[in-house]
Amino acid sequence: MTPESIKKFVIVGGGTAGWIAAATLGNIFRHSEVEIELVESDDIGVIGVGEATIPPLLTILESLGIDLVDFIKHTQASFKLGIQFDDWHTIGEGYFHPFGTLGRSIDGHDFFQCWLKSKAEGDDTPLMAHSPEAVLAQQGRFFLPFEAQGTPLASTTFALHLDAVLAGKYLRKFAEKSGVKRTEGLVESVSRSDKGLIKSVTLQSGVEIAGDFFIDCSGFKGLLIEEALETGYEDWSEFLPCNRAVTVQTENMGDTTPYTIATARAAGWTWRIPLQHRTGNGYVFCDKYCSDEEAIETLLSSIEGQPLTEPRVIPFTTGVRHKAWNQNCLALGLAQGFLEPLESTAIHLVSKSLALFVRLFPTAECDTQLSDEFNRRVRQDYEEIRDFLVLHYCTTQRDDTPFWRWCQQMELPVKLKAKLDLFKVHGGLIPGTEELFQPTSWYAVFDGMGVEPVGYNPTLDAIDYHKLKQSLHSGKTAIQTSAATQPSHDEFLRTYCPA
Ligand code: FAD
Repeated sequence: MTPESIKKFVIVGGGTAGWIAAATLGNIFRHSEVEIELVESDDIGVIGVGEATIPPLLTILESLGIDLVDFIKHTQASFKLGIQFDDWHTIGEGYFHPFGTLGRSIDGHDFFQCWLKSKAEGDDTPLMAHSPEAVLAQQGRFFLPFEAQGTPLASTTFALHLDAVLAGKYLRKFAEKSGVKRTEGLVESVSRSDKGLIKSVTLQSGVEIAGDFFIDCSGFKGLLIEEALETGYEDWSEFLPCNRAVTVQTENMGDTTPYTIATARAAGWTWRIPLQHRTGNGYVFCDKYCSDEEAIETLLSSIEGQPLTEPRVIPFTTGVRHKAWNQNCLALGLAQGFLEPLESTAIHLVSKSLALFVRLFPTAECDTQLSDEFNRRVRQDYEEIRDFLVLHYCTTQRDDTPFWRWCQQMELPVKLKAKLDLFKVHGGLIPGTEELFQPTSWYAVFDGMGVEPVGYNPTLDAIDYHKLKQSLHSGKTAIQTSAATQPSHDEFLRTYCPA
């Protein structure tokens, strides 16, 4: 007998995760009989933060057929070339983590090894002089790489800063156009079959919504995945102890930097995310070392411009659900897990999970081989990102507060320790094909945090050093020269997306 196919999806939650899920599934099933219904409660509302993204967001928009200019206009977005990290290594020092790759290989040798060789020969050119994104960011400029073919900036990679609430509204419109039904109401109870599968959710109004597959986008509490299915959550506070954030929005002071700023503070770090109409600010901190009052004071004394909102404190626990897909329920967004927004990965994890779910698409029976594979891969993604985040902390030289002293002596995740040790002796990393953070990202943080390998790859001794030096010099100069001809980010926004 052919297994029954899924005829109805019920999505609980209309935050960024819920509407990305609705837009993605709505787009896939727009010419079919499959029904998609999203339930959200206006009384509860959305978390309303989550404003910095990474480049894969653009691929999602493209796959949905969403016009970039239209999206930018409606979400008051600005462009993002990477993240400026200040005061992480020591107070007063900063570094840039760019999107994209660094330089080009020379005579088949990996670029980073060429740079290490040149450094060993006495060249003091910073690594980031070879990154188009870092150079543009330093100059506060932006342009679209596909309009710069043939220049060294053609490979520039970018993402967006966006207003999360406006993005949700935009995606809602998009999803509704492809047939997704939205129901307003508060889910009060969940009913399950004898086999334990979710059958339906019942709203406060008494309306029952049945479905074959449920997507839990209800936020931190995990209404279906946790409260109904009791899936369990793995707490990773031992590696990432920050557990609260305070946020405030401020007016845009006219300098819309094409990058996020993450500044290390006494018990965590603050973010500054510039949008067209305002700036998002927040302080991610650990309550063991800082009270809410102190955090609010730190944040308010670090912002530029008038606050537009009252400070708001958001508690969280870093970690991941034991199973992101359990029975006929898939958890996305905050219901799936949480990693602090240091590298802006949460929205990406929503769409990556959805893409994987579509590749492993189940029938109504929900074969556990599919969900097991899904859960294995999602966990791998979370661990990989977690380790990359920990790298930012554990390599600090700061010892000015108990928080940073703790970071210096923390126990590292096993894989991170192995990666760090390998880098130190080998001077390089072998890219994992499915890994989000490729070696360039790791090199940016290693370099910024003063982690140095003992040397370069010995094969570089066979290279013609004069040729290598010239190649590095001309590459760097070409980036600098091309970047200097581009408009400022604010100018670019005004012409590309006029109000
Ligand atoms: P929510 O926005 O909380 O939505 C939950 C939805 O469920 C709401 O619609 C609510 O009404 C509904 N709901 C809940 N209970 C019920 C019920 N009983 N009945 C009906 N409906 C219900 N991500 C990034 O990518 N970049 C960032 O820079 C970033 N910064 C962040 C900063 C902070 C401090 C935090 C906490 C998160 C950040 N994130 C970031 C993560 C990002 O905000 C979330 O991943 C994203 O917004 C998705 O949230 P969500 O949709 O899962 O949950």
